[in-house]
Amino acid sequence: MSPEVEPRESTPVVTPPRGRTARLVDRSSHPATVVRVGDVAVGEGCCIIAGPCSVESEAQILETAAAVKAAGADLLRGGAFKPRTSPYDFQGLGLEGLKLLRQAGRETGLPVVTEVVDPRDLTWVCEYADVLQIGARNMQNFSLRKEVGRCRKPVLLKRGMHSTLEEWLLCAEYVLAEGNGDVILCERGIRTFERYTRNTLDLSAVAAARERTHLPVLVDPTHGTGRPSLILPMSLAGIAAGAHGLLVEVHRRPEEALSDADQALTPAQFAELAARVRALVSYMEEQGSAEGGRP
Ligand code: PEP
Ligand code: MN
Repeated sequence: MSPEVEPRESTPVVTPPRGRTARLVDRSSHPATVVRVGDVAVGEGCCIIAGPCSVESEAQILETAAAVKAAGADLLRGGAFKPRTSPYDFQGLGLEGLKLLRQAGRETGLPVVTEVVDPRDLTWVCEYADVLQIGARNMQNFSLRKEVGRCRKPVLLKRGMHSTLEEWLLCAEYVLAEGNGDVILCERGIRTFERYTRNTLDLSAVAAARERTHLPVLVDPTHGTGRPSLILPMSLAGIAAGAHGLLVEVHRRPEEALSDADQALTPAQFAELAARVRALVSYMEEQGSAEGGRP
């Protein structure tokens, strides 16, 4: 058991505070949440998380990390435990991947985000990661969502590809109810009849989530579209819809990636995206709004 996970004998029944009508996740129950990860404040300004789908080797993660840092990323991402559709596909480097990601984070000064797919891995992941990602396939994993709620690490909660806005918010409620208030939501596209894009990026859910909850909301245009040419326009659209930032996959050489090769941006494409997004954020802040320039 990790020092972050307190042992317990049985699942406690969590009751909402007496007299409470709002849920913990509701906008009315809390001022806007800002999740602090090192020096980065997620929920203020625009946070850009970038890095490869998977950590593949020391050279790959160090080179990619240096490139995204130079382009202005705030956090580094990289999967060590990969929830792949086929059991014969690359499953991630596991503990070795976590160590390499940590090393890349240390060398660039970027805090690191990585996915946890199994509560049994939480010990390791808490030791090496700054933010725990729950992926779309695991949003409905009840034991995992409860266990991360008992960790003292921020949680990046992706929306399940078949989940409604309400189910997504209630998943966040589980984490909050277990005592972890540092939850960041991430819209990554839902499955529809459309096949041209890998998923259908649901930007109305971003605006709706901003309306319904005090938690920060990010957009992942990479898994949301699966097409590099659509990532820049959907990043700009996500920010315009009120997102507090983006999660984007970048690989030093996308054609060589061991997972999600078709959707990764090159470092040069990412640098252009980051510059265009920062320019949009400045423009929106100059225009002003009731919330200091952002919808
Ligand atoms: C990922 O971020 O690499 C990932 C697997 O994302 P999702 O859970 O949204 O498919
Ligand atoms: Mn991926």
